[in-house]
Amino acid sequence: MAHYRLYAPSSVEIKVNAIEEQPASAKSQEGTQTKSDSADNQQRSASATTHWQFLAAQTNETMTANMEQSAYPTQSGIPGRCDSAITGHRVELQLLTTLKCNLKCSYCSLGVGDVLGSQQHVGYELDQLERFVSTHLAGKEIYATFYGGEPTLNLEFMTAVMRLFPLFRFQLQTNGTLLDNVPDEILGRLSNILVSVDGGEKITDRYRGRGIYRQVLRNLGHVRHLTGGTVTARVTWSDPDTSFADIDELTRTFDYVYFQFVADEKYGKDALQKRRAVLSELIARFFANNDAIYPVIPLMGIVRNKILPNRAQELYAGMTQCRASTHLVNVMPDGKIFPCPDMMYLPAMQQGDVTGNWLRPSPLQAHTDMPCGDCEALPWCRGNCMKNLYLAYVTKDERYRRNVVEPICALIRFIGEVIDSYAPGDWYAKLSPPLRRELTDCEVYEYVEVMP
Ligand code: SF4
Ligand code: SF4
Repeated sequence: MAHYRLYAPSSVEIKVNAIEEQPASAKSQEGTQTKSDSADNQQRSASATTHWQFLAAQTNETMTANMEQSAYPTQSGIPGRCDSAITGHRVELQLLTTLKCNLKCSYCSLGVGDVLGSQQHVGYELDQLERFVSTHLAGKEIYATFYGGEPTLNLEFMTAVMRLFPLFRFQLQTNGTLLDNVPDEILGRLSNILVSVDGGEKITDRYRGRGIYRQVLRNLGHVRHLTGGTVTARVTWSDPDTSFADIDELTRTFDYVYFQFVADEKYGKDALQKRRAVLSELIARFFANNDAIYPVIPLMGIVRNKILPNRAQELYAGMTQCRASTHLVNVMPDGKIFPCPDMMYLPAMQQGDVTGNWLRPSPLQAHTDMPCGDCEALPWCRGNCMKNLYLAYVTKDERYRRNVVEPICALIRFIGEVIDSYAPGDWYAKLSPPLRRELTDCEVYEYVEVMP
């Protein structure tokens, strides 16, 4: 989830269910180039390409069928097709406890469409949430993320949800400034705390306000021994001057670091080159030894995907790993549900409603106009950010495509090439069994997007 976005799309024309003829280039494997020189990789890439085309065609068709039938998805009766609004056996129930925030980061994506601050209180009853869960999520393994605005501004709601659903796993995504107000009862139940920072002290304070970085670290120091799980830094890589040292320092303060390339026009001049240099250093550090995992989630995830591509199939049906197409359910304070927290300003993206007790499959799906089917990175990238791809290639926002999405995709391909140069399979072969498990099954993959 990229929650930082200055850029407002120039077009919000919605083509959620447009079924388009596949372009000739996507229909044929002939002429598809991959940079990989191994026959294995070529085979994997070709099969992923076919898979993408299949998904793109299938999901558009499924969406249309569901939309035509009713807002309430019904059994499709088609073998091999997901009959539920949720793909797979897990679901992340992201509960926005308020859209209020105590900080005023100017780049916050919730500022698009005036979402931020628009709903200050939860507008549905807990028994409506309970009815929604038992109707649509029965039998799933549910993990709930408290999110906002700043979720800790509504501790009462968080406590009530934790008491109502004792079997859920819980995560908190917070700016960290109010962590010292969170009661022990909540802290002890959290499997992961995602703390948003922008890099090191200088950069974080520039975006969030003077003294914020130290305040967050101080708060973490106060509560860390009370938390039940891990603490993960969530970095939106917005500033081209973010350095290797900034990110490396976070790996010493937090259990894990997740970074995501900002979905904003921040890739001009030498910004791409600077990011490449930092990425090269991070990847060199990642492969520097075999006796510990360097806890940078996007690198861990990409290496995992390259070595064991089947994991993405098992966990995300081979689809985008932010979960927005498969099993991420964002419940706004008024009860409306959207697949991506960055698109809550688009009514056509509504996926359900807690008060009305309905849920349909995510409208944010692979589309034949997206370029992933012809991309060498698809076998391990799996479509990165569906919001970005949707804005660039479905709504045809050319400026967003050129200035945001293409540079990010270039960085992703660059990461893949640098990782390949370290022979990741040989590195993995030397890991101890516990380290292999950490790389393949790290629980934090379920709480963030995996891809940058
Ligand atoms: S599509 Fe996924 S990765 Fe992109 S902003 Fe939405 S949740 Fe995040
Ligand atoms: S790098 Fe971009 S085009 Fe390639 S698979 Fe990932 S999202 Fe798709």
